[in-house]
Amino acid sequence: MNFDPFLVKPNSSIKLKHYDPRFISGLETQDLHLSKDELKARSDELLLQGVKRLGELQDKLYAQNTYALLCIFQAMDAAGKDGTIKHVMSGINPQGCQVFSFKQPSAEDLDHDYLWRYARNMPERGRIGIFNRSYYEESLVVRVHPELLDRQQLPDRLRHSKNIWQQRFEEINNFEKYLTNNGVVILKFFLNVSKEEQKKRFLKRLDEPEKNWKFSANDVRERQYWDDYMNAFEDVFNHTSTEHAPWYIVPADRKWYARLVVAAVIQQTMEQLNLAYPEITQAQRQALVQARQMLEAEH
Ligand code: ATP
Ligand code: MG
Repeated sequence: MNFDPFLVKPNSSIKLKHYDPRFISGLETQDLHLSKDELKARSDELLLQGVKRLGELQDKLYAQNTYALLCIFQAMDAAGKDGTIKHVMSGINPQGCQVFSFKQPSAEDLDHDYLWRYARNMPERGRIGIFNRSYYEESLVVRVHPELLDRQQLPDRLRHSKNIWQQRFEEINNFEKYLTNNGVVILKFFLNVSKEEQKKRFLKRLDEPEKNWKFSANDVRERQYWDDYMNAFEDVFNHTSTEHAPWYIVPADRKWYARLVVAAVIQQTMEQLNLAYPEITQAQRQALVQARQMLEAEH
């Protein structure tokens, strides 16, 4: 699969309106002549293969204990973050995976610098960490709703600074550089759902009793700020997509396609790490021989 259409190049000035949430490409061209059901079946099959391979790669990541992989998911409500995380990680040993969902900050969080709660939850070496929302909310929801910035108890000089967002982008870039230099490999996914598709999914949550619990009136209120969010997202992508921590804008109106793209990006990134099981030393090999002798000597 070619990820170029989704990857935001460093120092870009992309516009989200140029990214089609219904875009499909990267499947074998003959597949594009398949019916909707056939296409979905084919993609399910590909996803299954990808998920299986991710499981193998994760096993080596864990054994090698050098790198951590941090996958960040940002999106508007109902874009499919939860489902994507569930499906893409389904082949992974639960011990090798750490998922953190960031909601509104607590009083304790607000008593610290804004990166504090995220830094505390970084994946350990050998693990895949999933951030379901992340420090990017600090330049998204906090930017769209200035009263949230007021709650952060910053010194006035900083709170009223015109450069505050630019400054946060720089701080986040530096933070990610620091993490990268410490073996944390960072991937950032924006699940790009259209406003129309979001409405359909909200209505479905209202219509289907088993989906009612997912519905939140607040999500409908946030929808009123759609354009503000899109502007904030564009600014985030244009300032924080870097060589070491790239953003991918994933078409998300078709859930199966979004899952496929995310799995493929993670797989490709992990393949490039050349992960391998640790070699054992001569002394360790001898210890294994001794252990076998001891076991065999038992009656
Ligand atoms: P789901 O709805 O699928 O359970 P979710 O991520 O939308 O998942 P919610 O509990 O509905 O979870 O919403 C979390 C809310 O917390 C979002 O509205 C988000 O904008 C908000 N939030 C996250 N981080 C911050 C932050 N740093 N400051 C203020 N609000 C935040
Ligand atoms: Mg929500």
